[in-house]
Amino acid sequence: MHIQPLDDHVIAKIAAGEVIERPASVVKELVENSLDAGATDIHIEARGGGRQLIRVSDNGCGIRTDEVELALTRHATSKLRTVEDLERILTLGFRGEALSSMAAVSRMTLLTRSADEDVGSQVRVEGGAVRSLKQVGAPQGTIITLEGLFFNTPARLKFLKADNTERRHITTVVMNYALAYPQVRFTLQQDGRETLHTDGTGYLSDALVKLFGVDDFKRMVEVDAEPDPRSGRMAVTVRGYASEPDFSRGDRTRILLFVNGRAVQDSKVSYAVIQAYHTFLMNGRYPVAVLMIEVPPAELDVNVHPTKAEVRFRDPNAVFTAVQRAVRRAVVSHASPLADVRGGAMRSADVEQASWQTNLGAVERQHQLDMNGYIEDAGQYARAAGAIGLRHQQPDGDDPTAIPEGMGAPRKPRTLPLLRVVGQVAAAYIVAEGPSGMYLVDQHAAHERILYESFMAAYHEQAPVSQQVLDAQTVQLSPADAKLIEEYMPVLEGVGFQLEAFGPNMFTVRAVPAMLADANPQAVVASIVSDLELGETPGEGAIEDKIVRRICKQVAVKAGQVLSTDEMQSLIRQLERCESPHTCPHGRPTILHMSADQLAKEFGRAGRR
Ligand code: ADP
Ligand code: MG
Repeated sequence: MHIQPLDDHVIAKIAAGEVIERPASVVKELVENSLDAGATDIHIEARGGGRQLIRVSDNGCGIRTDEVELALTRHATSKLRTVEDLERILTLGFRGEALSSMAAVSRMTLLTRSADEDVGSQVRVEGGAVRSLKQVGAPQGTIITLEGLFFNTPARLKFLKADNTERRHITTVVMNYALAYPQVRFTLQQDGRETLHTDGTGYLSDALVKLFGVDDFKRMVEVDAEPDPRSGRMAVTVRGYASEPDFSRGDRTRILLFVNGRAVQDSKVSYAVIQAYHTFLMNGRYPVAVLMIEVPPAELDVNVHPTKAEVRFRDPNAVFTAVQRAVRRAVVSHASPLADVRGGAMRSADVEQASWQTNLGAVERQHQLDMNGYIEDAGQYARAAGAIGLRHQQPDGDDPTAIPEGMGAPRKPRTLPLLRVVGQVAAAYIVAEGPSGMYLVDQHAAHERILYESFMAAYHEQAPVSQQVLDAQTVQLSPADAKLIEEYMPVLEGVGFQLEAFGPNMFTVRAVPAMLADANPQAVVASIVSDLELGETPGEGAIEDKIVRRICKQVAVKAGQVLSTDEMQSLIRQLERCESPHTCPHGRPTILHMSADQLAKEFGRAGRR
């Protein structure tokens, strides 16, 4: 073929492929245009996941009659004139690509009237070609309707997912903008049903309540950090809401980030948010956060990708640090036991009152008094740590200090005395106090025990222990390992795996034991294979047990992991009701106990009592 310039239609279609990936991209571009036009009221309507119809109506400034046609051509924009303008972009759009791209791949109708004209315009475009253009009466603002999206790009049409998936993407886009622009009233209607609505009060909190529900909102704390002028770094403001430490999710999809009013995906900044919860959240749990990050426009490059979902910061570390600090401060000031003490919520009197109860023997009582003395002397922190340990205890029946376990799980009998967490040693052992002395608990071994028993309980009750993997992953194994997997397939299925042969020595992981939902399926399968390799005659019941133990080992908190007092307390509470709390599933001890007597002896106090 000879080299020839592409004609405009082909160029437009190629460009459209970049900007308009799916129906939700149309919604995004249209909503951005409405926001740029200063709309205070934006109504979005979609049918068939946007395949059939997308309509966005706004009360913005509208487009002048003499500019309507121009607005539909590529690289025509009212938002940018010079290269320098690119350095200080304050609008959401600037590439002048969206309308022309949409028009190229759909049947589009644009109805608009500019604020300073009496008559409006109506344009119909089909596959990029203008079919009609006339002057009509219209309300001020713009209504853009797309029908038959991708009707002329069958390849793209084929790649669209089920209506439900596309509907969800649309909801996400609208939700993002509704959060970023709480001063704007948003309504979203999908297939005739209103699915989302905000009131445009101007408060992020109102939008959050509308979108997440009041229960979730109540479990979030406000983040509000002004830039520090003394830092000499880029000025970063971080505002919004972040979840309390005991409100988390199994994935990071609710970490929503906005930079200068634009929803962005930035794994580094997301990680800063997760980092802010260090030691507050267990492995595999993620916070919920909605953060509005503001930086000077010149410090930000939004022109990275046609969809503008990625941005580049001149000083990414400054943003990382600012976000991490702001969230950390908000979460800590909420969760800190010191804050509680200062706030008067937990006075040391409460601690004393909630101390060990009546039926302790004389020795224990004496010991308890000593402990209280210790707590008093060790100052605020020790008092407060005590408070945290006791705070979650709610009166219920026979045991006023027990917390409910699991979700609706029947209460198991207690196999250990009630223990109170004192602290952590070497990020590996939990120091706890009980009615008869000190207990040192190996956090990893104890957690393994807890997981093992809960897994086995579910397993024996034939409760579902399996969870589908959303994005099924394939694992490639050596021929020998693949044979092993095949051989043990029934056992693996029994404990919740669902593996499907996918090619020579390859398996698709369709489901994993629920406990492993957050782990990397490849790593899990690999470690199980290595266990199988080590032998045990096939068909032996023990192999099942071995796999389960391997799974628990994989999921249990590791030595070296710093735990919050709440995490430790929750772990101890569960251990107290394990059938065999004293050993891990591999038979190693979980607890070392030193009685008050032993302690007294060691300190040479034995005779003095
Ligand atoms: P961009 O937003 O990057 O400028 P678009 O192709 O999305 O490019 O839009 C082209 C132009 O059409 C915009 O610059 C704006 O002037 C005008 N326009 C588009 N949508 C609207 C709207 N809803 N209200 C007013 N003007 C609009
Ligand atoms: Mg635009």
